[in-house]
Amino acid sequence: MPNAYEEALARLAPSVVEETVRITEIPAPTFKEGVRAEYVRGRLEGIGGWDDLAVDSISDVAAVRRGMPGRTRLLVCAHLDTVFPDEATPVTRSRGRLTGRGVGDNSLGVAALLGVAQALQQAAPKGLGDLILAANVGEEGRGDLRGVKRLLKDYEGQFDAMLAVEGHALNRIQLVGVASLRHEVSVTTDGGHSWGAYGRPNAIALLARAITAIEPLMPEVGMEPRTTMNVGVIRGGRSVNTIAPDATMELDIRSVDPLRVTSLLRSVRNTMRDAVNEEGEMAFRRIGNRPGGTIEEDHPLVRAALDARRGLDLPVPEFNAGSTDANAALDAGYPATCVGVTTGGEPHTPREWISTGPIAQGVQYLGRTIANAARLPQSAVPRRVGR
Ligand SMILES: [Zn+2]
Repeated sequence: MPNAYEEALARLAPSVVEETVRITEIPAPTFKEGVRAEYVRGRLEGIGGWDDLAVDSISDVAAVRRGMPGRTRLLVCAHLDTVFPDEATPVTRSRGRLTGRGVGDNSLGVAALLGVAQALQQAAPKGLGDLILAANVGEEGRGDLRGVKRLLKDYEGQFDAMLAVEGHALNRIQLVGVASLRHEVSVTTDGGHSWGAYGRPNAIALLARAITAIEPLMPEVGMEPRTTMNVGVIRGGRSVNTIAPDATMELDIRSVDPLRVTSLLRSVRNTMRDAVNEEGEMAFRRIGNRPGGTIEEDHPLVRAALDARRGLDLPVPEFNAGSTDANAALDAGYPATCVGVTTGGEPHTPREWISTGPIAQGVQYLGRTIANAARLPQSAVPRRVGR
C-alpha cells in the first residue's frame, strides 16, 4: 500500500546515485575520514528536522530523530571509511554501472542513508521509535570498528537494536558476525655475529620452530563452527651474517563462534611459548579485535528486513556470516544485522563496481526495513545481557 513515505522512497534513486559519486570522490581512508564526515554532516543539516545532530571527536556523525515511546529505538550505521589511500578517487559511469574505489563499500551505503533521512523528513511514517542515523569511522582494516564501538558507548540506553548498511549487500542479510583476533608475535634474542657468536639462539629459527609447533592446531577445513587461522606476514633478521636478533609474524584467527577464537589463541600462545622456551623472548601484541555474535533467522529485526523485500522484485536473500559494524553491536548483546542497497563486485580493489539498476529497489528496501524495525514494540527486541 503506497503511502507518502513509500512514494518519497520510490523517487530517491537518481539522487542517491549522484550522492554516491560525490561521496566516493571525497577520499576517506580509515583514520582520515574527517572531510567526508564534514560533508555528510552538512548534508544532514541541509535535510533538517533533527532533534540532535552531532560529530564526535573521532568524526562519527550522528543525527537523532525522536519518535514514539514504547517502539524500537534504532541505531542505523553506514561506515564512512575506505581501504584506499588518501588520494583522488574518481568514479566512472558506464551502462548501468558505477566504477570507483569504495563506490559500493561504502559510499552507496552512506548515500542511501542520506536518502532515507530525506524521505523521513518529507513524510515520516507514524508510530516509529527514535532513530539515530550515523555515518561512522573506522570499519575497515586497522580501524577495528572504533567508530561504531564509540557510538554504541555514547548512545547506550538510547537505542534497542542496530542496523548496519553496506552498499553491496542487497541480497545478503547478516546473521553471524565473524569474530576475529589479530596479533603480532615477536621473538627476540641477543643475536650476534654469525661466525664469532655462533651457537647463540637465532630469533628466526625460534619463530620458525614455533610456527611449526602450532601447525597441528590449525582448524580443519570444513569444521563447524567455521574457524580459521593464518600466519599472514613474517619478517625479521638483519643480514646474512648476523644471528637474527628479532623475528615477527602476524596471526589472524577467526570463527563464527567468538569463544573458539579466544580458546584457540590461548592454545597458540602456550604452544609457541613452549617451542621457544628459554632461548628467546616472545611477545604477543594485539593488533586487531573484531568481536562477533549471532542473531536468529526468525528474530523480529531480521523479519523486518525480509518483510521489506515484499513486492520489490528482489531474490530470496542469502543469510550470511560477515564482518561489519553489526559485529560490535551483536557482541554488546544488541539485536543487529547488516543489509545492503545494490549488487556489484571487486570491493577493496580499484576495479570496484556497483550496478545502478537495483538501487531504486535497494533504497526502498532500506527505507522500509528501517520503518518496519522502528515500528516494532520495544519488548520485541530485548538486549541480551551477560554473555
Ligand atoms: Zn564496508
